Amino acid sequence: MKCPYCGSENVEAVKSWDMPKMGYRVTHYRCRECGGLFNHYVGRGREFTLRVGPRKKASS
Ligand SMILES: [Zn+2]
Repeated sequence: MKCPYCGSENVEAVKSWDMPKMGYRVTHYRCRECGGLFNHYVGRGREFTLRVGPRKKASS
C-alpha cells in the first residue's frame, strides 16, 4: 500500500470495516512519513484509494 500523498510505503492500517450496502471492505491507513490519512476500498472486483482530508490545512 502506498501513501497517495507522498508515495511512501511506510503506512499502517489503523482500522478496517465493512460497508455491506456498498459491498466494500474499507481499511483506514495512516502514513508514517507524512501523517496523511486515506481509505482503501476493496470489493466487487475493484479497489481504489480515497484521501481523507488534507494532512494539514493550506489556508483558513
Ligand atoms: Zn505520506
